[in-house]
Amino acid sequence: MSVIGSLVFCTDCGNLLDGSTGNEKTILVCDVCGASCRDTSSKVVVTESKPTAFPSALRAKRSEVQMLTEADMETDAVIKQSCEKCGREEVRYYTQQLRSADEGSTVFYTCECGHKWNTNN
Ligand SMILES: [Zn+2]
Ligand SMILES: [Zn+2]
Repeated sequence: MSVIGSLVFCTDCGNLLDGSTGNEKTILVCDVCGASCRDTSSKVVVTESKPTAFPSALRAKRSEVQMLTEADMETDAVIKQSCEKCGREEVRYYTQQLRSADEGSTVFYTCECGHKWNTNN
């Protein structure tokens, strides 16, 4: 049995329990919560799920951050468009897909004077 394969985790709090023998009759006491857990190392396959589950969670997190960054850049975009309220010639804008992709998108303009309007493409 490999070292990783003999890891046993507390069924109450998930703490890693030391002293696994691979014998199901052994009772392991958790250092953290004091729960008595059976030594299930011979049955539970920790090696298969652990190493793969972790990096994919990290990948998901990273792509989430990228999406947020893109959205921020979109809201900060400036376009040459005159505001009918104050005459300013550059306003912030962002586009939003309202319904399905073939129905076009709506462009929202926001001027620093507070005037807001939108156009449908
Ligand atoms: Zn515990
Ligand atoms: Zn304005």
